[in-house]
Amino acid sequence: MTETNGKFPPEKATYNLENLAPTSEQLLVIYPHLANCQGCNTCTKSCPQDIEVLRYMSDALRGEIAQVAQRSFECMMCRLCATRCPAELPPYYIAVLCRRLSGRYLSPPAQHLAARVAEIEQGKFDAELEDLKKLGKSELRRRLSELNTEA
Ligand code: SF4
Ligand code: SF4
Repeated sequence: MTETNGKFPPEKATYNLENLAPTSEQLLVIYPHLANCQGCNTCTKSCPQDIEVLRYMSDALRGEIAQVAQRSFECMMCRLCATRCPAELPPYYIAVLCRRLSGRYLSPPAQHLAARVAEIEQGKFDAELEDLKKLGKSELRRRLSELNTEA
């Protein structure tokens, strides 16, 4: 739980994502001041990323966690919205929490990632990794440069 207490920037709450649920009630436990949003839209007008901050704050209050994650995706944590907010809210921290909740509980699992982790655990890349460990810095840099060129 966090309290702003007139501090700027507002404090980031600490929480264990494993113990949370993707609901508005959960957001209000962690950031109770979310309920103080006045709907003034000053945050949206302040955002250099043209993010509809008020809309994602409204989504958060309705428990539309995936919508918050989507709308806030391009937030660069500049904090301008909090600077202007008359209720001293930290929209970006609430958005970060929603993106984490969305990734953890609402998004479909990334099958390709699970398959790659399984390959790593089965030792598929062990020999290659051992070979890389024997290389000097200059050779590693050359290979990295080649990879960047290919990308
Ligand atoms: S912190 Fe994010 S949402 Fe707030 S003004 Fe900056 S970019 Fe926009
Ligand atoms: S500036 Fe603050 S009070 Fe106003 S709409 Fe945005 S988050 Fe709510």
